[in-house]
Amino acid sequence: MGRFAPTPSGRMHLGNVFAALLAWLSVRSRDGEMVLRMEDLDTQRTSGEYARILREDLLWLGLTWDRETPAQSTRGQVYDGYFHRLEELGLLYPCYCTRSRLHSADAPHLSDGTYVYPGTCRNLTAEQREHYHRAPAWRVLVPDREWVIHDRVQGESRWNLATDCGDMVVRRADGVYVYQLAVTVDDGESGVTEVVRGMDLLSSAPRQMYLQELFGFPHPEYAHVPLLLAPDGRRLSKRDRDLDLGQLRLRMSAQALVGILACCAGLTDRSEPISLEELTGEFSWEKIRPEPVYLDPKMLTE
Ligand code: GLU
Repeated sequence: MGRFAPTPSGRMHLGNVFAALLAWLSVRSRDGEMVLRMEDLDTQRTSGEYARILREDLLWLGLTWDRETPAQSTRGQVYDGYFHRLEELGLLYPCYCTRSRLHSADAPHLSDGTYVYPGTCRNLTAEQREHYHRAPAWRVLVPDREWVIHDRVQGESRWNLATDCGDMVVRRADGVYVYQLAVTVDDGESGVTEVVRGMDLLSSAPRQMYLQELFGFPHPEYAHVPLLLAPDGRRLSKRDRDLDLGQLRLRMSAQALVGILACCAGLTDRSEPISLEELTGEFSWEKIRPEPVYLDPKMLTE
């Protein structure tokens, strides 16, 4: 079982379409099922209207799903249950660190700009906690052990959460559950066995594998697909408005767009219009290269 897990905060951009296409082909080439879930935890940035347009855009592309599971914004009570399990396991502690403190010089930063939480609030006494007079975020203790990911596209990689990120926030101070917890619970409860998404989320996989283990969910297969880059190496993103689906739909057919992306993925050698049925027969993860894909926006805008 595969899934689409879009964030309804705008029109789909090319990278989203690329990941959704490969997720769909992988599942359909094996007669599997697809679920759709709206990842709208951030209620400030997301909307029901964007969710509606997203469904419509997926259907325009022909990327169908078998059922839609409830949007994350409606699942606070379910996440509460999993949060309490972590509490019962004795793995949670309140964290009062402010953003500026976390980004200050004494927190070790990794080369990609992220930081490793140094455990500042791990051993606070009850008295020290009271002193803060504000709602804390909640962190889960992470073990000092290795996680090995066998990614269908990126190959094998090894991670250790203790040195890669430190104890992870699972609930923010405003009570909102974080992406890592919500995704783990939702994928686990809906029986997702294959997670296909952009390469930028590879480092989330070990975090989610850890939570899967704590919650008793099996690990899904992972396929982190390459990012799409402009010829100058810049990542194509939501900011490239002329490359979002709203604009692209005015300029080309779904089959033309699918043809271009299938060629980028290495599934075909000519970027000609192609139907999803034809592509399903061509699909195999072995054909998908791990390197970023360079795509000249001119191919799509002229
Ligand atoms: N909601 C995320 C996004 O739209 C995807 C998360 C995931 O696939 O795990 O980028």
